[in-house]
Amino acid sequence: MRVLVVEDEKKVANFIKRGLEEESFTVDVAQDGEEGLSLGGQNFYDVIIMDVMLPKMDGLAVIKALREKDVRTPVLCLTAKDTVEDIVSGLDSGSDDYLTKPFAFAELLARLRALIRRGAQERGAELTFADLRLDPVSHRVWRSEKEIELTAKEYGLLEYFMRNPNQVLTRTQIAEHVWDYTFDSFTNIIDVYVNYLRKKVDRDYDKKLIHTVRGVGYVLQED
Ligand code: CA
Repeated sequence: MRVLVVEDEKKVANFIKRGLEEESFTVDVAQDGEEGLSLGGQNFYDVIIMDVMLPKMDGLAVIKALREKDVRTPVLCLTAKDTVEDIVSGLDSGSDDYLTKPFAFAELLARLRALIRRGAQERGAELTFADLRLDPVSHRVWRSEKEIELTAKEYGLLEYFMRNPNQVLTRTQIAEHVWDYTFDSFTNIIDVYVNYLRKKVDRDYDKKLIHTVRGVGYVLQED
């Protein structure tokens, strides 16, 4: 589970990060609204924790901008002011739940788990692209109604392609999303896995779906 924490107070951000990492979450921290918008728009997260009072851009404006970019990730808003207006405007801007500071970690965790469950149900719908079909609940994949057996990593890679069709995905984006690593030497492994995936998805079919964009990365597209 991957979480983005947008929080400028280092103490609070570290408290959340440490606690979530102990629960086996992968956590990215953004220290201001602009950074939050940039990370939230680039990467896939299962849930976002958003402080309201942030430098550069406030949390509600970030949520609104993310929703305009069609980022549907569930958002838990943190607010220091428990006024009704704050909460109402938070929910209006597209946040899914809120928590008033200070909060107990157990409460934060319970709210996050509920949001992740809800998000997963909403994402549970089958993905299709050309004659490919992927079921995110059972992790099964078919091409032309023939089932394809994939390893967990191959599945993760294909799901990432299918959630971002017709978009060139760089090796860095793929590394960050599917492996949670960013270092450069890793990119060879991505090429290896893309080739494994191609053998299973494309080799036996005339129409190839996974294409190399030389010097940039890969794209899932029909021609
Ligand atoms: Ca703050």
